Amino acid sequence: MNPIHAHAATAARAELTAFSYQPEPLGPDDVEITISHCGICHSDLHLLDNDWQISSYPLVPGHEIVGQVAAAGTAVHNIEVGQRVGVGWLRGSCQSCDECLTGQDNLCAQGQATCVGHYGGFADRIRVDGRFAFAIPAGLASENAAPLLCGGATVYSPIRRLAAPHMRIGVIGIGGLGHLALQFARAFGCHVTALSSSPDKEGEARSFGAHEFIATGSPNALKQATGRFDLILSTVFAELDWTGLIQALRPNGRLVLLGAVGTPISVPAMYLILGQKSIQGSVIAGRPLIREMLEFASRHGIAARTEVMPMAQANAGLAHLRAGRARYRVVLAT
Ligand code: NAP
Ligand code: ZN
Ligand code: ZN
Repeated sequence: MNPIHAHAATAARAELTAFSYQPEPLGPDDVEITISHCGICHSDLHLLDNDWQISSYPLVPGHEIVGQVAAAGTAVHNIEVGQRVGVGWLRGSCQSCDECLTGQDNLCAQGQATCVGHYGGFADRIRVDGRFAFAIPAGLASENAAPLLCGGATVYSPIRRLAAPHMRIGVIGIGGLGHLALQFARAFGCHVTALSSSPDKEGEARSFGAHEFIATGSPNALKQATGRFDLILSTVFAELDWTGLIQALRPNGRLVLLGAVGTPISVPAMYLILGQKSIQGSVIAGRPLIREMLEFASRHGIAARTEVMPMAQANAGLAHLRAGRARYRVVLAT
């Protein structure tokens, strides 16, 4: 069997270097995918830096994968050899717990992440459970579809579960996740506000679907939005003005955390009690919502704005994202 050629970090915060490994035998439920594109999600940087203390090395990042099925196990019936598919954060789950059986495999305690304890998509090929490979609708170009597999799924889930067309949604952090959230929220018919620390993103944020733009860096920026939002999606991983954001919610409003903030979130209880407001997390999306999201994106012309780089330049792509310069997702092409 040919080894898989990948790019791996051998220690926390190390540069990626060439790395080859022999894949596990193809199980009955597995597929082998020849990778054409892989997006760089900020979670890849968190993993490379071991921010979550779950990383193991060598670490091959990459969980926004698009490619072609090269081989399929005997029990794979949902996809065929030659078909174009995508793989996101999860590459497998138990398939038998309450969460898996209700289409919420993203909440499975046995969920297997594509690049935690396994080698991810910065590679020429990958083997995963075929139930976690999703057909890519014909209307989506591979480079623009790859970021939907993690970033798109992650923002689609709370919008689909918690938003309605009459609502006002705020999206804070207009990066890989945020620019997709603006597009999905607009297509759902909501009133959409982008909240960003980068005033130069205003024009593009509006082009992605924002009706309004709030530059969060200016003093008292959030004051103008007091009592405005039914739902705020935060994609930022740094500390924010949590009290200001809670005050920006309407009664019964929700602040949904998507960005992996490492510091405790402190809000006086009365700010939540009065107005029955809540803060909650949301993690990627279950398989049914990922399938639905891809179909919805295709129908509504939703796609990631990408900067494509050769996979051999993965280190440069990671540095570009780390510097906050990605507009709006770096995608590596093999
Ligand atoms: P990204 O492309 O780097 O975007 C993050 C955005 O946050 C930036 O574009 C910037 O937007 C804002 N930002 C960055 N640093 C900031 C700072 N110091 N202060 C204020 N704002 C700052 O990252 P991403 O790929 O969208 O991922 C965002 C977060 O979501 C990461 O923590 C990632 O791990 C997490 N994530 C979570 C899930 C989940 O299932 N919950 C899934 C995928 C990713 P502005 O310039 O507009 O301020
Ligand atoms: Zn991700
Ligand atoms: Zn399960």
